Amino acid sequence: MAANIIDGKAFAATVREKVAGHVARLKEEHNITPGLAVVLVGEDPASQVYVRSKGKQTVEAGMNSFEHKLDADTSEADLLAVVEQLNNDPAVHGILVQLPLPGHLNEDLIINSIAPEKDVDGFHISNVGLLGTGQKSMVPCTPLGCLMMLRDYHGSLSGMDAVVIGRSNIVGKPMAQLLLGDSCTVTIAHSRTKDLPDVVRRADIVVAAVGRPEMVPGDWIKEGATVIDVGINRIQRDGKNKLVGDVDFASAAERAGAITPVPGGVGPMTIACLLANTVTACCRANGLAEPEGLTA
Ligand code: NDP
Repeated sequence: MAANIIDGKAFAATVREKVAGHVARLKEEHNITPGLAVVLVGEDPASQVYVRSKGKQTVEAGMNSFEHKLDADTSEADLLAVVEQLNNDPAVHGILVQLPLPGHLNEDLIINSIAPEKDVDGFHISNVGLLGTGQKSMVPCTPLGCLMMLRDYHGSLSGMDAVVIGRSNIVGKPMAQLLLGDSCTVTIAHSRTKDLPDVVRRADIVVAAVGRPEMVPGDWIKEGATVIDVGINRIQRDGKNKLVGDVDFASAAERAGAITPVPGGVGPMTIACLLANTVTACCRANGLAEPEGLTA
């Protein structure tokens, strides 16, 4: 069986179009322009690329982008002051502090200083608690993107057996909460899980978020299962740099019913969902109806 390929690049483009449409309506009908502020501390090359890309896509969607670039040796007090200023700025509806932060800064403290309603990354402890208790929250972008693709492919996920491999706060745990919220029977696997191949073989939905190149081989995948590969791993193959996921794509695609490729699967959905969260935050801040299909 050759799996259907879930095209995250194309799907992300439709999400961005929906966002742009909603932004245009907000401007026309309410004279409101959603704004996203991104704070970058230091000069980590990967973070610089992400921040540039986020800013560009924010502007392309018709929103305001505010970039705050701070020196690597910025003090905690100075960073907290920047966040506080953004919390109080009515033109800013979403705030993202790019992680990782330099070692001398306490990430939890900084993230929890963002106003929860502007926390478009969904990492604030209040949003974690709201998601965990099934209440309206800001949902972390990568798991939100995975959920959107699964809903789009399957319609209802109710009653399906889902395995999430990985229990990080930014992907694995929120992913599991979202699948539970959609009435899947959810197993969370991690580095201490016994008989991982057998656990994965039971799943109708496999979400791999580990960070180990191609660790899930095709023979772990149940015939017809849907595989969402969150992993982004840089490897050398045949003397070339290559990006691969946590799943061995070639062998998994022989058994799966549907699978996301790497690159071009989950990756592009993450920034699209950041834009979606910013519009959602803007609507909530102004007491307006939220855009349909852009939240969990
Ligand atoms: P973390 O390193 O925070 O978490 C990895 C998880 O994998 C941990 O829970 C760990 O278990 C588990 N794990 C490690 N080894 C094994 C193993 N042998 N068997 C089973 N589980 C194992 O990673 P992240 O969640 O931040 O990211 C995961 C991957 O997703 C990375 O490749 C990352 O680059 C990618 N990513 C992609 C994004 C995108 O936009 N597409 C966004 C975010 C991440 P334990 O807790 O027991 O240590």
